[in-house]
Amino acid sequence: MDDCIFCKIASGSFGTEFLYEDENVVAFKDLSPQAPVHVLVVPKAHYANIIDGVPAEVLASMAKAAEAVAQTCGIDASGFRCIMNTGADAGQTVMHLHMHVLGGAPLGEGLIAKA
Ligand code: AMP
Ligand code: ZN
Repeated sequence: MDDCIFCKIASGSFGTEFLYEDENVVAFKDLSPQAPVHVLVVPKAHYANIIDGVPAEVLASMAKAAEAVAQTCGIDASGFRCIMNTGADAGQTVMHLHMHVLGGAPLGEGLIAKA
């Protein structure tokens, strides 16, 4: 996807610092952090979202990346939240699959509803 920002970041085009990388995914800090730790886990291949035929090995890498990021950022013991916004009602703004890893402070209880 030539015009996809996360394809470009994941390919290393911008020299972004990766907190984790393996053959399937990268992880980097969110541009607009919503918590003291806010990292995005992004597949190197382009999938629109979690229901876009994502291979099992990519999903496994995303889970592994979340674990690694939590350890690296020191939030594995305190806790964190993983979010994958999917489609309009979830407010997905970047149409390349990504998982938010949020933590470093109490995040509030329950699910978030803007309505
Ligand atoms: P979502 O609303 O789930 O699609 O989340 C998209 C996220 O990508 C937002 O939290 C943005 O702050 C973040 N984002 C957008 N562009 C960049 C970028 N160039 N580098 C890092 N994070 C970005
Ligand atoms: Zn992409």
